[in-house]
Amino acid sequence: KAASIDVAALIAERKRVLGYNCQLNYPWQPMAVVRGEGQYLYDHEGRQYLDGVNNVCHVGHCHPKVVAAAAEQLATLNTNSRYLHPTVVEYARDLLSTFPAPLRDGCVFFVNSGSEANDLALRIARAHTGAHDVACVDHAYHGHLSSTIAFSPYKFDHAGGEGKAEWVHRLPIPCAYRGKHRGKSSDPAVGAAYAADAAALLDGTAASGRRVCAFFAESMLSCGGQVVLPAGYLRGVYAAVRAQGGICVADEVQVGFGRVGSHWWAFETQDVVPDIVTLGKPIGNGFPLAAVVVRAEVARSFDNGMGYFNTYGGNPVAAAVGQAVLRVVRDEGLLAKALSVGGALQAGFRAIGEAHAEIGDVRGMGLFVGAEIVKPVDFAERARAAGLRGDLAQAGAARAEAERLAGEAGSAERRDDAPPAPWKDLAEAIAQLMRERGVLVAVDGPWGNVIKLKPPMCFSHADVRRTLSELEAALKLARPAEYSRLCEAPRPVPAASRFAVEPLAAAAAADGARHSKL
Ligand code: PMP
Repeated sequence: KAASIDVAALIAERKRVLGYNCQLNYPWQPMAVVRGEGQYLYDHEGRQYLDGVNNVCHVGHCHPKVVAAAAEQLATLNTNSRYLHPTVVEYARDLLSTFPAPLRDGCVFFVNSGSEANDLALRIARAHTGAHDVACVDHAYHGHLSSTIAFSPYKFDHAGGEGKAEWVHRLPIPCAYRGKHRGKSSDPAVGAAYAADAAALLDGTAASGRRVCAFFAESMLSCGGQVVLPAGYLRGVYAAVRAQGGICVADEVQVGFGRVGSHWWAFETQDVVPDIVTLGKPIGNGFPLAAVVVRAEVARSFDNGMGYFNTYGGNPVAAAVGQAVLRVVRDEGLLAKALSVGGALQAGFRAIGEAHAEIGDVRGMGLFVGAEIVKPVDFAERARAAGLRGDLAQAGAARAEAERLAGEAGSAERRDDAPPAPWKDLAEAIAQLMRERGVLVAVDGPWGNVIKLKPPMCFSHADVRRTLSELEAALKLARPAEYSRLCEAPRPVPAASRFAVEPLAAAAAADGARHSKL
């Protein structure tokens, strides 16, 4: 059903009355979305989009069971959390049962957003340890509150940010593809190398007299570029943090609730149990609900005389919604589905990468997948430098050859073999072209070149096929015809002429820097 919306007028009015730096997706061509169902969004003209990005609507947009639970409870009672209500208690019990011990024997605080959850986790960590400082991973985002912005390099490092505060200590992104220690993320030697660097950094912090109350890290890095933590990384860093008396917080706001497929919680893939886990986004399928799960001993330290009250946190409607989401995840076997569909998605990206050297590393777990878009010229140049023929018609062949040469050179050499340069413009062009072809993907990462997918968990194998075929089409369209010339001189794809969105180009220029990526 088409809805009558004058998009240009709405953009202008939105700019006038909403906060001036409120972000928009696709700022150069914003979408007026009026309806959602399952893995689909529909715009005001009835166009259907396959949603590859919304990990908030975890079990699918407007899932009928979640909608019914919300509507029924809203029509019965909604009040603050200072009254007894069975649903809240039942839901807390059910949520805890998804965690390993000792967290499952701990307790839950319900809040309204991921930011609030991380702020509360910080308060609890400070109360428990008596320490003040925070360690976080570079390029992480943990929320928009003053407290959480302070340990979100994704924000404080950039325009409008105040830089890193003295009480914040950042650890390098442990990326096995682009970081200091390279190899396979499944290689424990890579995880151990990053953990050793982190431990050394924390030792330096302690030696300078500063005490870390908590280490905050996502169990798989989202804004950091869909990075799968290398094997053993969290185990090593957790040990170092705990040795100093700090506690460990897993931010599962993006990656929790079975998205990784193999487990309910992504930290479980790292064989650790955090002291606190923060939950958000998927927990309420879009309803404002979030939570902090705390180990009992830690929660007892926070029970220090100051009562905790949060007007909306854990209200009966929120609890009914949360309970419905948990049930749907179980009843529809969504963990197993994430594993199988996500596996096919990664395999498909890799297969396309065989023919398109612009696709670098493909990584992820379950339905949390990222693909680096890179400049294949690096491979061509390296291969040329190694004495290969100059007319490299196939960048895929060049890559294979460069990798073979690097392999022959031995592992010590390979460590110096930098990955191909990130290609932000092409990643953005691909995302834009795919959007125009009805498939929504996002772009993120420190270099803005990682195509990321984190769709509703009802995403199907047919959806994977559609995503991959539109990806291939976008790659062909975004790529200049003469491939060898591209290899000589990579250049940004001219967005305006290619996408015919001239009228909005000015808005894009203004909003480009604030393009919503979360
Ligand atoms: N942590 C992570 C990892 C997030 O991605 C986000 C939101 N993108 C938050 C915390 C903050 O959540 P909210 O926007 O619900 O406050």
